[in-house]
Amino acid sequence: MRFSSLLCVAAASVATACFARQPDQGVSSFDAAASSVAQRARETPPRRARNVILFIGDGMGISTITAARILEGQLRGGDGEGNRLSFEEFPASALVRTYSANQQVSDSAPTATAMLTGWRANDMALSVAPAVAVDEADAAVIAPHVLPTLLERAEQRGLATGVVTTTRITHATPASTYAHTPNRDWEYAGQLPPGATLPDIAAQLVQRQRTGNGIEVVLGGGRESMLPVEMADPEYPDRRGRRRDGRNLINEWLEAQPGSTFVWNREQLLAAGDGPLLGLFEPSHMRYEADRSKDRAGEPSLAEMTRVAIARLRKQRKGYFLMVEGGRIDHGHHAGNAYRALTDTIAFSDAVRAATEAVDARDTLILVTADHSHTLTIGGYPARGNPILGLVRGPGATAPERDAQGRPYTTLSYANGPGFNIVEGNIDEAPRRPAAAGRDRDLSDVDTTAAGFHQQSLVPLAGETHGGEDVALFARGPGSELVRGSIAQNEIFHIARRALGL
Ligand SMILES: [Zn+2]
Repeated sequence: MRFSSLLCVAAASVATACFARQPDQGVSSFDAAASSVAQRARETPPRRARNVILFIGDGMGISTITAARILEGQLRGGDGEGNRLSFEEFPASALVRTYSANQQVSDSAPTATAMLTGWRANDMALSVAPAVAVDEADAAVIAPHVLPTLLERAEQRGLATGVVTTTRITHATPASTYAHTPNRDWEYAGQLPPGATLPDIAAQLVQRQRTGNGIEVVLGGGRESMLPVEMADPEYPDRRGRRRDGRNLINEWLEAQPGSTFVWNREQLLAAGDGPLLGLFEPSHMRYEADRSKDRAGEPSLAEMTRVAIARLRKQRKGYFLMVEGGRIDHGHHAGNAYRALTDTIAFSDAVRAATEAVDARDTLILVTADHSHTLTIGGYPARGNPILGLVRGPGATAPERDAQGRPYTTLSYANGPGFNIVEGNIDEAPRRPAAAGRDRDLSDVDTTAAGFHQQSLVPLAGETHGGEDVALFARGPGSELVRGSIAQNEIFHIARRALGL
């Protein structure tokens, strides 16, 4: 790919970033999104915000929002269909087009990159321009294509910053805020190809402590990416780090700034003093909300992490940028397990509610969106109040509806995924049965509302895939004037950037 012009922007410690314009498309994806946001700003001048919080429900498509809304209402013993998730009360909303530079249906790396940098990127790429090949591991080749992120821009302007997630902190969505790599799978040393000069994602997290005054709050999972193989995990002594370069990045993160604290369980988090805070609560991803140990030595909820992050960031004089990800909604869906996807969506909604209660609506823009959808569908003609995870029963009917083969079916199903076969039990170790079992499956005696049930799917795949239709964006606070109509995903960057004056 060649470029007609390069617009270079100084980005301390990220190297000088040059924005690539793609001549074939006339105008770059960055400029196109900027001009469409500018057009809306001329029509309705937006207010400026002191703080911006970007909530990303990973894989939280619109069918997921609908199903989670109904499940939450039903779990409370009330009207499911009439219920509202916290962010559905926000005054502004828009539809968001999520395709990436090279894919119709996107992965989480380019979609997060779109929201964090304003650029459409390639599948697998984190905050680097599409000109970089996915296997390019030469730091010097990548440097001109590094795309500065909202978090880095905020740090350079003296704002406080935070990253909160339920996945590994080195996973695609959180990593897009601080790392620049064409391959999201290069999370720790040992995963990069031989001879690579590009630092792994975990090492870039430590490197980012030299941008501005460093990230103030980092909370999530993923201790194993930060610790060397020689070292035991603090919570599970039989598990070890995964790094093959001997580095202990937790210590390096702490050493980068005096007064920093590292915590690895809920009790330590709630007791942590001032100063930069690194909290890593599992070796890999944190648990699903459905599986989370709620005692004090267990893991914090996403809402608790959000509260802690805001309480620390709001003390900063110049405002803050915070990204909060409900990262495992996506994982529940990939496993074809709507129960865990939806209960994590409810936990995500709780985290948004915690934020709305903790901030001043007059000075804080809250954006709530998804990076991409999934293939979850809500079908049949179930009666009002029918369990959303249950078999389809029509109004007044006691027996379930039957399909063309005379078998009952569920309201929720997936277009593809492991549910083609009979899959039960813990989704992290889902048993596989021959594909023929899916055709013969009869749900008459199956509790489809159980946590371990995997919804049926049409196309047999080991992992269910993302969906390509638009997702929703909900907004509240100054800057939400620009959230309306149908927008491109990378416009979210420009909306947040304008709100903060970056
Ligand atoms: Zn995914």
